[in-house]
Amino acid sequence: MDEVQREFLDIVTQVRAHLEYQKALGLSFIETTSVGSPQPPVHQVIPTNEKSLVRQTSELAAVREELGDCTRCKLHKGRRNIVFGEGNPNAALVFVGEGPGKEEDEQGRPFVGAAGQLLTDIIVKGMRLSRDDVYICNIVKCRPPNNRNPEPDEIMACEPFLIKQLQAIKPKIIIGLGNVAVKTLLMTKEGITSLRGSWKTYQGIPLMPTFHPAYLLRTPSDKRLVWDDIKKVLAELEKLRKE
Ligand code: SF4
Repeated sequence: MDEVQREFLDIVTQVRAHLEYQKALGLSFIETTSVGSPQPPVHQVIPTNEKSLVRQTSELAAVREELGDCTRCKLHKGRRNIVFGEGNPNAALVFVGEGPGKEEDEQGRPFVGAAGQLLTDIIVKGMRLSRDDVYICNIVKCRPPNNRNPEPDEIMACEPFLIKQLQAIKPKIIIGLGNVAVKTLLMTKEGITSLRGSWKTYQGIPLMPTFHPAYLLRTPSDKRLVWDDIKKVLAELEKLRKE
């Protein structure tokens, strides 16, 4: 197979994956508007700055070191692993969820269970990125027992580390995942159903609230709404690239 054939096959594979994702969203038409087609990946939209990457990697490592074997809140008692976060320290886009679940606690990695697979599909098939292009983390780094919501004292103890992570990464955009994460980040009582889809700000960074993938597993008909939110993020990243 020559280079042209390989490129063609690559394009066909990408288009197929994207169409499969749109089908999974319940779209009965081909989505080609709003953000242009094909959409460049984020690492092309906002190129990685190698110098910044070195600094950001070491700053993130310092935040992790400061967190240490943390016992700052009662969530440390039941955890197997601290789930600090993972991805590109120079990411233009950061996803922030609520806290680790069972699989995440076992593996020490964010969004690796069933909801994590759906988030990965959104990133890979929907946005045509890889998980390594973005950064993924949570408000609390230890699993709340029985996946209950994190409590205010736990959030208060852990959130400074999220803020430090964001200060190291300096993302252009945050996507807030789900009711608890978004309410916490925005310090509001307003629910995700009314918040989602419109731009907010967290620590000076534009934030797009959207549904949590775990909610989408229970309510797949709302995947279309998440796709609407994701398209707004892609459009904003495209605008930033042109600035
Ligand atoms: Fe420390 Fe955060 Fe875990 Fe609480 S949730 S023990 S503050 S790392």
